[in-house]
Amino acid sequence: MPLVPLSLIALDGPSGVGKSTAARRVAQQLDWQYLDTGAMYRATALALHRANVAFADREGLKRVLASLRIEQRGTRSFLNGEDVSEAIRTPEVTQLVTPVSADARVREVLVEQQRAIGASGGWVVDGRDIGTVVFPNPCCKIFLTASAEARAQRRFLEMQTKGSTLTFDEILTDQQRRDHADSTRAVAPLKKAEDAVALDSTSMTLDQVVAWIVEHHRRHG
Ligand code: C5P
Repeated sequence: MPLVPLSLIALDGPSGVGKSTAARRVAQQLDWQYLDTGAMYRATALALHRANVAFADREGLKRVLASLRIEQRGTRSFLNGEDVSEAIRTPEVTQLVTPVSADARVREVLVEQQRAIGASGGWVVDGRDIGTVVFPNPCCKIFLTASAEARAQRRFLEMQTKGSTLTFDEILTDQQRRDHADSTRAVAPLKKAEDAVALDSTSMTLDQVVAWIVEHHRRHG
């Protein structure tokens, strides 16, 4: 008997492509919920950093992972009850999250939590491995891309509105570092699932991306 596809949109793609904003808006339009799996890896990196635990310390890592309670309430992220929405977006955590998310033990724990959250359906889930590993059988799998320059330019403009002094080149270099690390790691690398639909948003506005995904879901969901 064929598996009935789960009512869930898996939205994967590289850093800075606008997945979270698009996913949040699509979820609003469908009256679904939105799960930001990147925030879960960021909260884990923050927890390890605060506990001063290195990867080589297997027992320490096990202890932190066992006590990890990550929640998402609306657009806010909570770590063991504390609102860490801002703390997980600092450049320091953005650096730390790369090795943390490449660790198989970390991924095992977080993937299990993500599957438990999304199992009932009605979720838009964004990440790097949602369509390849976490939910192999959702109704819609989308791999969102945009040129590296377009992504860095969007991020640059967004950072400027927040008063950042980072240059376009610094942002592009950091993005290339993350793209490379995410796509070449041994465990759950960033890649398009074979049955995912690729959407190149280089010349699209956010509104167009959201409308495209909602329409795709209407036809295939
Ligand atoms: O999406 P965001 O940039 O906030 O994710 C932070 C980091 O978490 C990414 O750079 C990536 O290394 C990792 N990540 C992951 N798998 C996911 C989501 C995020 O490895 N499903």
